[in-house]
Amino acid sequence: MHSIRKDFLISEKESLLWSSKWSTEKKIRISQAINNHWFLDNYSSIDILEFLIWEKWLNKILDLKIELSKRSIEGLALDIDETLSLTSTFWFEKLLSIFWNPENLTASQMAEKYHLCQNVPYWKDNSDIYDLMYQFREDDNFQIEIPLIEWTNHHYNRIHNEIISILSYITVRPDNVSKGTSIWLDNHDFPKADVIHIPHELEYLFWNLWKACVLDILYPNIVWIVDDNPNLIKMLPSRYKWEVFLFNKAETCNFWHINIHISETIEDVIKNIEKLF
Ligand SMILES: [Mg+2]
Repeated sequence: MHSIRKDFLISEKESLLWSSKWSTEKKIRISQAINNHWFLDNYSSIDILEFLIWEKWLNKILDLKIELSKRSIEGLALDIDETLSLTSTFWFEKLLSIFWNPENLTASQMAEKYHLCQNVPYWKDNSDIYDLMYQFREDDNFQIEIPLIEWTNHHYNRIHNEIISILSYITVRPDNVSKGTSIWLDNHDFPKADVIHIPHELEYLFWNLWKACVLDILYPNIVWIVDDNPNLIKMLPSRYKWEVFLFNKAETCNFWHINIHISETIEDVIKNIEKLF
């Protein structure tokens, strides 16, 4: 294993965080460097997480790993946004109630077209929109109001009770909305399990890398995850064999080290889980 501090493209911890002062060229170069599983193939996930996040957040993940290993249990992890909840559509609904949309699209059309609010080209330079997005992201009450993808709670309760245990929710919702997220999960009666949040200081650029590192540490207690994000798959290192239930219409590349089960509806996700177990 290489030393991450010696070999990493950016050597200083401080400069690893996204800086608004960086040139576009530098941002693109760094995005390319981390946008594939090469990164995780060459470094230990613990080293990367030590480098990216505060120690207390890493220790939380390691504590869960120790607990799962002691109990020798294996199970399923679930993403939350767009896997259990209609988060993007809700964000677009809230923004469209205030801001202009020259294409005259509905919230769900915008969610389908742009996926995330930050991808909308004519909103990119609007700091009012970005301020509001930061408020949404860090507001517990906002999380509680996000609509459920219908029946996901019933389906996953059945999966948890009859097929395979749900061991963790792994989400890029920041840690400072852990309360709102837990209330949301409880309000909808989802199975009880650890919720792993992304540290709120971590830049967007590193979110997929963070999640891939968490999964890498939790392997083989967690081999299976349901997630809507094909970019996560590109990050997973080739040292293990994951099974990813991708809840998304997107075509993805084939990765020899990952079994990818693509489903467009929650019913098909569930069928694929049942088929495997
Ligand atoms: Mg998601």
